[in-house]
Amino acid sequence: MSRTLTGVAASPGLAAAPGVRWDAGEGVAVEPAPDIQTAARRVQDDLRRRATEAPTSEGRTVLEALSLFAGDPELLASAEAAARQGVSLPDAVRAASGHYAEQLRALGGYLAERAEDVLDVGARIVAALEGRHVAEIPNPGHPYVLVARDLAPADTALLDPTVVVALVTEQGGPTSHTAILARSLGLPAVVACAGARDAADGHALVVDGDLGEVHIDPPTAVVEALTARAERQRRRTTAVTGPGMTKDSVPVALLANVGGARDAAAAAESGAEGIGLFRTEFLFLGRTDEPSLDEQVEAYADVLAHFVGRRVVVRTLDGGSDKPLPFLELGAEENPALGVRGLRTETVRPGVLERQLTALSAAVVRTGCDAWVMAPMVSTTTEARWFASMVRGRGLPTAGVMIEVPAAALRAGDLLPEVDFASLGTNDLGQYTMAADRQCGDLGTLLDPWQPALLDLVAMTCAAGKAHGRPVGVCGEAAADPLLGAVLVGLGVSSLSMAAPALAAVRATLRDVDLATCAEAARLARSAPTAAEARNAASALLLGA
Ligand code: PEP
Ligand code: MG
Repeated sequence: MSRTLTGVAASPGLAAAPGVRWDAGEGVAVEPAPDIQTAARRVQDDLRRRATEAPTSEGRTVLEALSLFAGDPELLASAEAAARQGVSLPDAVRAASGHYAEQLRALGGYLAERAEDVLDVGARIVAALEGRHVAEIPNPGHPYVLVARDLAPADTALLDPTVVVALVTEQGGPTSHTAILARSLGLPAVVACAGARDAADGHALVVDGDLGEVHIDPPTAVVEALTARAERQRRRTTAVTGPGMTKDSVPVALLANVGGARDAAAAAESGAEGIGLFRTEFLFLGRTDEPSLDEQVEAYADVLAHFVGRRVVVRTLDGGSDKPLPFLELGAEENPALGVRGLRTETVRPGVLERQLTALSAAVVRTGCDAWVMAPMVSTTTEARWFASMVRGRGLPTAGVMIEVPAAALRAGDLLPEVDFASLGTNDLGQYTMAADRQCGDLGTLLDPWQPALLDLVAMTCAAGKAHGRPVGVCGEAAADPLLGAVLVGLGVSSLSMAAPALAAVRATLRDVDLATCAEAARLARSAPTAAEARNAASALLLGA
């Protein structure tokens, strides 16, 4: 009997194939390793072997990085020290890797992967000590949809996108490792899809990564309709080029999120109209000393140089919480997401921001780039005013704020007159609105960017932007979802910034709908009581438009 499961859309596209359930815990029994060093060596050898078999260069890089963690002297020494205190070998490894991951805990994107990498490696060493071999991704000899509870970095690195055609997981949110990897491989993915493993194994599946739906044994008519839609989208996506705009020619700047010069080069290649989020802290992660002025000027200029004559929105350091910058010496906090992070770090380490702005200003002079400068984690009008005066005082004319804290959205009418623009960080705004840790795999449904409460805060910010003549953009992951992108435009945002691979699909979707339809889709989404109903209502209108 056919049925449909609904989860959270994590990577767009459509794929049809039989579902294959995969349980990472069901490994084949092997001889238990006698000590931590032997177990770690076994894991390291296994990861190195897998690296040579990985079907993609990204996969190879992930596995090689993991194999280094498996031999990390600090990790192993701390586990052995715990074992000497009488802790069992598996518990000693669990504690050491947990502690290490805590230190590395980092945001969506490759920072989050580092913490997950350590936990994954720790779990593999524990399995070797307990005589369990970690299960490998299945290879049934035909293309299939991989259905799992969640996926660890080492598992996903081995995926061959010609064999695994889509991913469905019961856990994970839109910023989870699975989602990021799926988007980089161009695989449709649905996460936070409860009951998927039991329902999907061995059944014919159609995975709809646009709507977050998994159709199980769908009738032929449904398959035909979905396939026709996918083919239409594919043709449109490759055919539509040029700047972002709606069907009725309302411009929507399509910008890229970058963390360094390599991303900036890729963004320029993929037709980004500028950079909407330059995460400057990515250049200095893990650094124990503050980068010198010269070093900062070089690093910023390397990025700016790719977009001379176009807009580059530079975010000042967003250290703390999920983005560790050891040189800030923030110390341990009970609740770091609510602690000293983003702009707040300046209150405990005064001077870092001023030096960063001085370096940025020099990089702008050197490259002649149009840099807009914004602060992360702004909560109050006082902070916005203070930041804007710092930026302008350094000769940088365009100052802005990220709207990531509900207080900032609620009082956007006070904040925006202080600055020149605002950019909605929907990853953090979602986390704080729903009181759900953005890295928590169990809370994917709360973190769905279609949550009507989140859309309400976006709408309030846009209304304030309109009232005060300040442009408002979105640079969180929400902007990379083509249908949600259209809704955001309907709410009033004038730019969407995303990882470069997502640009083409967003550009094509926008070009097919006029502003009035976007506004109507936004109204329908905000009127819905749940995220799933918001997505369904808006999508029905947009896909039919
Ligand atoms: C966000 O919070 O939406 C955002 C874009 O910033 P980051 O993901 O770097 O915290
Ligand atoms: Mg943020």
